[in-house]
Amino acid sequence: MAPMVQGKESTMKAMRFHEFGGPEVLSYEDVPRPAPNFGEALVRVKAASLNRIDIWVEKGGYYKPSLPHIPGSDAAGIVEEVKASDAADASLVGRKVIVYPTLACFHCKYCIEGSHNLCASYKTLGAQVDGSYAEYVTVPVKNLIGMPPNLKFEEAAALPLTFTTAYHMLVDRAKAQPNETVLVLGAGAGVGVAAVQIAALLGAKVIATSSSEEKLRKAQRIGADVTVNYSEEGWADEVMAATNNKGVDVIIDHIGAETFTKGIRCLAKNGRLVSCGVTSGNEATINIRELFMAQRSILGSVSGTMKDFLAVTRLAAENKIRPVLDSVYRLREARKAQERLLSRQSFGKIVLVP
Ligand SMILES: [Zn+2]
Repeated sequence: MAPMVQGKESTMKAMRFHEFGGPEVLSYEDVPRPAPNFGEALVRVKAASLNRIDIWVEKGGYYKPSLPHIPGSDAAGIVEEVKASDAADASLVGRKVIVYPTLACFHCKYCIEGSHNLCASYKTLGAQVDGSYAEYVTVPVKNLIGMPPNLKFEEAAALPLTFTTAYHMLVDRAKAQPNETVLVLGAGAGVGVAAVQIAALLGAKVIATSSSEEKLRKAQRIGADVTVNYSEEGWADEVMAATNNKGVDVIIDHIGAETFTKGIRCLAKNGRLVSCGVTSGNEATINIRELFMAQRSILGSVSGTMKDFLAVTRLAAENKIRPVLDSVYRLREARKAQERLLSRQSFGKIVLVP
């Protein structure tokens, strides 16, 4: 390999923002290439995927990273450099990897219990620290696992956050069972696509909602048994009709305010609504009597554990689940890519490549 031109290796291209706002604040810049600290690897990003969290980080409400900031939680790439005394870690150089986006301490009470997503010093790549909308990103070596050889970089980058989140919701939180019915609200979003596939794999009957007939057809192709257009007033009645008015056992909800109240009413006795997002707003009203009389549960869920991440990566390696790509943009087109995410026209993941 030819030696790098002095000076060139110290910078990289990245999409970053200097003020909070919408996609328009992103700018394609030459920035200092990050250097790994001890225990970290420098990964050459071959693909990064978009998530709703990127939009929240950019807005600067709940997350307020120091500026300027590079967003992006999901990455697949090649290890360029490792800073560690461990020979096994050093041997990662040159390996294709995907990144577990939860930056946990691995030694607090929650981490020891395996709940890395509840870590006392919980951070997400790209939220509090610079992320993957760049040619290079530094991440703890502990957060890397080998990329399944059957996946392209674009698919591998589409796997971590949404599939790990959906797996945690269905398996760890809702404990969905093979004979149960799972309602996935907003099945075209990244988490929705992942939840439809994982619920179908668990053997559940899957009802998927989305806002267009085209997206519903796509949801059917990845495992939805019944589809319901939620842009129509009577969507909750349609869901009830699909269950002979018994209701669904599990609801996967990343939409929040817009669907929450009607969603809870679609729950069967002992039904569980699992919430992982608030795309449409934070607040909703519920009827408490209806909740306890039917022994329904509302469960919060955030990201997923390292174990969940390993589980979905294994399922992808075995071709049991497959990331669905909506579109691929160049890194410099990240604004356009985010506008597509916000348009709610996408089905599956939007990916950036350098
Ligand atoms: Zn911890």
